[in-house]
Amino acid sequence: MRNAMIPSPRRWWSAIATAMGSRPVIAGLACTGVATAMAALTLATLYTGRADALDHARETAVNLVSLISSDLARNVEIDDLSLKAMVDGAQQPITWKLPPDIRDAVLFDRATTAVYLGGAFILDSSGRVAVSQNKGVYPPVALNDRDYFIAQQRSPNVGLYISHPYRSRLRDGKWSIALTRRINNPDGSFNGIAVMAIRMEYFQSLLSRISTGRAGSVFVALDDGTLLARKPYVEKVIGIRVRSASFDYMRTHPSGSFVAKATVDGVERMYSFSRVPGSPLIAVVAPAVDDILSPWRERSLLVGTLTLAFGMVFVAVSWMLAFALRDKIRVQGKLVRWAATDALTGLSNRRALDARLDAEWTQAARQGSAISVAFVDIDHFKRFNDLYGHAMGDEVLSAVADCLTEVARASDVVVRYGGEEFAVLLPDTDAAGAIAAGERMRKNVEGMTHFAQTEGRPIVTVSVGCATRLPALGGEPRELLLAADEQLYSAKGAGRNRVMHEISAAGSFAAST
Ligand code: GH3
Ligand code: MG
Ligand code: MG
Repeated sequence: MRNAMIPSPRRWWSAIATAMGSRPVIAGLACTGVATAMAALTLATLYTGRADALDHARETAVNLVSLISSDLARNVEIDDLSLKAMVDGAQQPITWKLPPDIRDAVLFDRATTAVYLGGAFILDSSGRVAVSQNKGVYPPVALNDRDYFIAQQRSPNVGLYISHPYRSRLRDGKWSIALTRRINNPDGSFNGIAVMAIRMEYFQSLLSRISTGRAGSVFVALDDGTLLARKPYVEKVIGIRVRSASFDYMRTHPSGSFVAKATVDGVERMYSFSRVPGSPLIAVVAPAVDDILSPWRERSLLVGTLTLAFGMVFVAVSWMLAFALRDKIRVQGKLVRWAATDALTGLSNRRALDARLDAEWTQAARQGSAISVAFVDIDHFKRFNDLYGHAMGDEVLSAVADCLTEVARASDVVVRYGGEEFAVLLPDTDAAGAIAAGERMRKNVEGMTHFAQTEGRPIVTVSVGCATRLPALGGEPRELLLAADEQLYSAKGAGRNRVMHEISAAGSFAAST
């Protein structure tokens, strides 16, 4: 019972195929819609890949900036510790009374650990080298015009001062920066400065390990925009002060990321920056947006093109299949109709009768109504064929079919049962009704004028055998057909051109010419 109620998957598929075939435009549009939705989904996914690529690049840049920044911070701290030791030593009067070797050890012991050290010095209050870490003999130049000297000279509260880049007067014009601290007299007045000169190569070497891509850059600058090092290296911009809205932003924030067009070369870059704690240094990593997005662009172009191509093929194939399915279903319908139709007379055939009889039988059983069948057979048709030829015989078959159809009701089913024999299914018809219908048919055939002989006598007549059943009482449809066929046989035996019914055979009713 359950199985009867749930359609099988095969049925579902055939229902879907029929629905698609009967509405190919809707099926084509549905497939186009599905393909468009899938393409849109893929393109949306690809687009989110762009944001992912930018996020990933930002994350990498922030990590790099943090590495550079912590390296710088650590070295500034080491240098500052050396400076503090130098200041402490220099402010002790006893230091200056020690033998030079011991004094230098006291003052510069720590300074030797500094990386890329250009030199460690104590400058006196006039800016001349009082003592140096490497005991070098320096030209007697005054350094009192340097920013680091002036700053410390002017104020006792500067603390650690990191200078602008300068070309060293003591070391053949080498690019350096100086980290300085002030040395006071016991009364707090200015007594010179301690200087750690760091070679600018330090910054360049720090950046050299970082990959910048095709058009990216990485640099270290002072917070006033002065460039200390840059990769790719451009000699002429080192020591130059850069002014831009981007740099103003970096100057005023401890760290961050943003995308901007560089004023120098117009390249759009993603800037990630961080201020080195306790110093005016800013480390910046800025990969070019084009470099970040180029793998994504290549991938998206490939995937996008393939998606669109596959989508178009899918849509084209869907439309082709939908129309092919429509044609197939049309042909199938035609074949089904042909299989149930007799080609000569255009009537339904025996197969159609069997199907209809079963259905009508069930219906009659449910409604308690009678159902009848009439078998109609052309009399002496063999003789007719022999006399007038087979072609004329075919004409007669068509004409008789027309005669039967003419007198049939809309609910009756007229079929060519085989050869020159017809059957008429008469739903909701009792015995009297069947006999009346048979008589109408017989008379209509007899009255055909175009097959009359010259003296007006008909040469085409039919014999009709009828049977009636009440399906509600039981029985089989096949018995009804057999009974009608038996009556036809009786009608032939009784002289032809007559209607016979079971009840007439019982003697209660006879219809004849
Ligand atoms: P009866 O009155 O006893 O029915 O005699 P009959 O000659 O009609 O019956 P019989 O069964 O001896 O012959 C049937 C004939 O019907 C034989 C065949 O030539 C003819 N026939 C059957 N089908 C066709 C058809 O499609 N076209 C034509 N022209 N003749 C057909
Ligand atoms: Mg016959
Ligand atoms: Mg026959």
